Amino acid sequence: MSVITTPIVRRIAMVAHDNKKVDLLRWAEFNRLTLARHELFATGTTGTLLEYELGLRVHRYLSGPLGGDQQIGAKIAEGQIDMLIFFWDPLEPQPHDPDVKALLRLAALWNIPVATNTATADMLISSPLLGGDYRPVRPDLDRPATGDSPLVAALH
Ligand code: PGA
Repeated sequence: MSVITTPIVRRIAMVAHDNKKVDLLRWAEFNRLTLARHELFATGTTGTLLEYELGLRVHRYLSGPLGGDQQIGAKIAEGQIDMLIFFWDPLEPQPHDPDVKALLRLAALWNIPVATNTATADMLISSPLLGGDYRPVRPDLDRPATGDSPLVAALH
């Protein structure tokens, strides 16, 4: 008897700073078949390159400096992203450095696997956990809604 299993689709977000875009494209080209099995997201220019150079389908957000990093961070906070491939540039300051830091912070906070260079991205994409039913623990960070706050209640 054969067992039919549904392939696991991960939601993978990709971001590369300008000096790292070639590295990301080469990495994505090498892993194109694997990436094509998943749902892909990217900041604007990174996504355009992935689509046009490699023919991958990518949900594109705004360009990083225009808010794209923040959009991806928001998706992470909402539980909509499973993995982040973020080739940030360690040798050049970025106009949106605060957004870069915020994105990395949210990924750490929400227990999202993050690759910041090719070697780590290789490890993540080839992990047996990628295609299995592994679900990372999503931390329970629920706070009382503002309406439940005694301070706010006292104001009414
Ligand atoms: P980009 O943004 O893909 O639009 O270049 C990346 C970034 O700089 O965060």
